[in-house]
Amino acid sequence: MDLSIVIPLYNEAESLPELKAWIDASLKGFTYEILFIDDGSTDGSWKVIQKMDDPAVHGIRFRRNYGKSAALFEGFAAAQGDIVVTMDADLQDSPEEIPKMVRMIREDGYDLVSGWKKHRKDNTFTKNLPSKLYNWTARKVTGIKLHDMNCGLKAYRAEVVKNIEVYGEMHRYIPYLAKNAGFTKIGEKPVHHQKRKFGTSKFGMDRFVHGFLDLMSLWFLSRFGGKPMHFFGASGILMFLVGFVMTVCIVVNKLVHQANGLKYRAVTDQPLFYLALLAVVLGVMLFLAGFIGEMIARSSTERNTYQVKERF
Ligand code: UDP
Ligand code: MG
Repeated sequence: MDLSIVIPLYNEAESLPELKAWIDASLKGFTYEILFIDDGSTDGSWKVIQKMDDPAVHGIRFRRNYGKSAALFEGFAAAQGDIVVTMDADLQDSPEEIPKMVRMIREDGYDLVSGWKKHRKDNTFTKNLPSKLYNWTARKVTGIKLHDMNCGLKAYRAEVVKNIEVYGEMHRYIPYLAKNAGFTKIGEKPVHHQKRKFGTSKFGMDRFVHGFLDLMSLWFLSRFGGKPMHFFGASGILMFLVGFVMTVCIVVNKLVHQANGLKYRAVTDQPLFYLALLAVVLGVMLFLAGFIGEMIARSSTERNTYQVKERF
């Protein structure tokens, strides 16, 4: 099979019939399956999917709402096509872009092609501007040059989605997950974007706060997840050094004053003393965090995260 179209959805009943027809019209000449993952909808979306009556359509229904990442993960596990395409169910993403994205994977050798909503049809202040800032930060942290990391419309070589694990709210950073798994040929394609026709957006402004925190976590995990002591130990040593230098200053200063018979403040009367104390205590705490981190890393079932690409 050429393609698996993976569609996470949460209360999108009105959009689904139109979406299905649009996909069918756009994918002439491909063999494909459509996987609808109903993420706990309460508006009858599941009934609409059941009624489609097409062997190419498969439905997976969650018992309650778990979030887009869980829905994508489930869809990725079930997908059987050579290329896996994800898109939103709300008719904002155009399936007409899919053949071009597929061509980039097949002919230009991309592992992953992300859509780029170049002319985005959402609210300027709540979505478009924060999204620009968010994508700039994401580019700096991940080193992946994408304008629109979180675009719902993406195409992947099947190998990619079978070798990454989307969890929590990490669907925003799938290209980063892919890069960390060694799939480095990541491209983008400007795609048409429509205004939301039915229903409402499922994500509020908190997406930017959560998105930023998740980015920090991913950055930390990808660099130090398997060796936390390298992070905590290094910052611990730095703290110790700072504390040590301050202590030496205090002691030397006192000795010099004493030797010259000058008046000198008590050590505990100086701000520097407390700063030195704080630095040393922080240093100890950082080391402790490092040791605990190492113990957690060692007992994790995922302590060996490498993946073999080929053997003979
Ligand atoms: N979605 C989902 N589970 C959720 C929230 C959203 O499956 O908990 C789906 C939603 O139905 C849509 C896609 O994820 O198909 C993108 O959501 P939305 O259109 O609300 O996001 P926006 O376009 O506003 O970024
Ligand atoms: Mg949308």
